[in-house]
Amino acid sequence: MFCGALFTTGLRAQHPQPWNAPARFARPDLDSDEGGLWALMDRQERRLRRSPFVIRDHSLNNYVQDIACRLGGKHCPDIRVHLVRTPLFNASMAPNGMMQVWTGLMLRMENEAQLAAVLGHEIAHYLERHTLERLRDIKSASAFATFVGLFGAAGAIGQLATLAATFGFSRDQERAADRIGVLLMRKAGYDPAEAAKVWGNLLAESKARPDGGGASTLPMFATHPGAEERNETLATLAAEQPGGTTNATTWRERVRPFRSDWLREEIKLGQYEESVSLFTRMIESTPRDAELLAARGEVHRRHGGDRQFDLAVADFRAAEQIGHEPPEVHRGLGMIYRRRGASREARASLKHYLELAPQAPDAPMIRSYLEELGQ
Ligand SMILES: [Zn+2]
Repeated sequence: MFCGALFTTGLRAQHPQPWNAPARFARPDLDSDEGGLWALMDRQERRLRRSPFVIRDHSLNNYVQDIACRLGGKHCPDIRVHLVRTPLFNASMAPNGMMQVWTGLMLRMENEAQLAAVLGHEIAHYLERHTLERLRDIKSASAFATFVGLFGAAGAIGQLATLAATFGFSRDQERAADRIGVLLMRKAGYDPAEAAKVWGNLLAESKARPDGGGASTLPMFATHPGAEERNETLATLAAEQPGGTTNATTWRERVRPFRSDWLREEIKLGQYEESVSLFTRMIESTPRDAELLAARGEVHRRHGGDRQFDLAVADFRAAEQIGHEPPEVHRGLGMIYRRRGASREARASLKHYLELAPQAPDAPMIRSYLEELGQ
């Protein structure tokens, strides 16, 4: 479920209350309202399995599935994680056990515990059957169709924030999911302090927008007063149950082979301020990562403008100095020099790019630029 109301809750610190996970859910009768909903979700899931957006790498899928299983405990056999290639921050869990995790979310997680925080929150909604409660609040057929569509919507991302704000969970449901999510994290051995960091990072990114986050397109994030409060509450919940692991090294190793693709997809979104904010945060934690510097440089370059070109050149040069920089660093430098009329430098950089990436899809275009610059 898209937690559009995630930040609307204005939570107060709560004392831990005893909570026990329910028994595994039996498949509901097909002629009940819940059974009908499950059947629709099953259909969405079949569609999702065939989608070109789904990541089919077994190793990564198993890794994330294992994390979900540690959180879900005895419900593990009912939770099916699908990794979806969509460059936005989102995770959802349908009542039939179909869980979606989007790559924009994966890119933003700094460690395993942070992913566990998001998954734990979604699993909590599932365990508390919040979707069913929401379903029973929905009166019109069109609203119902939209509600169901939320669980299959890889692609129609533009409207999700609005949809999520309309169909999101109630404040009480979000409060409960936060509290239970932290309990699940802790029980699975994760450091619950990472939960507040996830939302803090997301909040910072949203605030970087020119409108200050007012029209955020992040589906799990509808900006409302209370965001900071929610952060504080999660931090308080975590402080009540300190300890646990973050598994940062394992996380980095497992997602590393996929990160280039995710960075590229983020760049393609064309959300200048948010991407700069995200990449800057990532660079701050690993300053000598040439790929991240290259990515931020590329965001500056694509935005254009004299100042942005200067920033791009600085990032590209820094990446080059570190070494093992992606070939795109030299393409980026070459394109900026070309725009600035520095033909000799442009030639050198574009040639360097072609040497490193002779088979690149844009190689023919780069060759034509080189001809135009005079070999
Ligand atoms: Zn939620």
